[in-house]
Amino acid sequence: MDIENQVKKTLSKIKLSKREKIFIALSGGKDSTVTAYFLKKFGYNIEGFHIDLKIGSYSERCRNAVEELCRRLKITLHVYDMKKEMGSGMCYLRTAIQSKPGKKRLKNCAVCGVIKKWILNKKARELKADKIATGHNLDDEVQTFLMNILKGSPELSRNIGVLTKNVSDKKFIPRIKPLFYVAEKDIKKFSKQKKLPVVYEKCPCAPDSYRIQVRKFTEKLSSEVKINAIKNFEKLFKKIKIKKTKINYCERCGEPARNKICKKCRLME
Ligand code: AMP
Ligand code: ZN
Repeated sequence: MDIENQVKKTLSKIKLSKREKIFIALSGGKDSTVTAYFLKKFGYNIEGFHIDLKIGSYSERCRNAVEELCRRLKITLHVYDMKKEMGSGMCYLRTAIQSKPGKKRLKNCAVCGVIKKWILNKKARELKADKIATGHNLDDEVQTFLMNILKGSPELSRNIGVLTKNVSDKKFIPRIKPLFYVAEKDIKKFSKQKKLPVVYEKCPCAPDSYRIQVRKFTEKLSSEVKINAIKNFEKLFKKIKIKKTKINYCERCGEPARNKICKKCRLME
């Protein structure tokens, strides 16, 4: 199946309405750019949301690419400036967190991911979005699943899926992944064919070595095998009873949290 039909099929699974306001989390990379391209092409009501991480010239290139994309697609872009809103760029904030006792072993991407999700949910809600779309692709999802099985708790995989499951709360904006079944190499090829404005370089805050190890293994697998892995995971997951997450509101920031204090506020303390 070609990439366009695959995305169409995935979106029909979610039963997305064209009236819903969808925020696309745009990083400047190929995945979120292609996600925006298709959602616009299919006539969804989309707006772009970019977090300017303020990681030197890399972030400038990302912001320029996102601005260019939103001009081409004629969609509104909201930009969250980390320095203005949080007082420092992502690298500085992350290093400060990792220098605290008990937080030294935290991985770069884990810290950055928690902060990005916190910002996305809060801003999307304030700007009245119904859904958040991210660019997560088949390779990302297979890697996360394997990482959880090999090292982490399999329960962590409850977040894997086209649409966030097990969480329903008025302060939580559901997240969707339209490229869930599309392999990374096909997304790259497509973005080049369409000459979309994309920053192809990787984030300078290197991903953790564990994900790199798993990626080296999954890179060798064919797309069919990766789709099989994800479909088998979905079958298995239906049989496992995972408690619906009870949502609290963080005592410090008021955002949805699984515990009394949300992950972002625990990082910052
Ligand atoms: P990553 O965790 O960096 O692989 O990114 C996963 C997804 O999160 C991307 O496909 C984007 O949808 C979103 N994302 C990552 N970085 C940003 C950013 N700086 N601003 C907005 N969305 C982002
Ligand atoms: Zn909090």
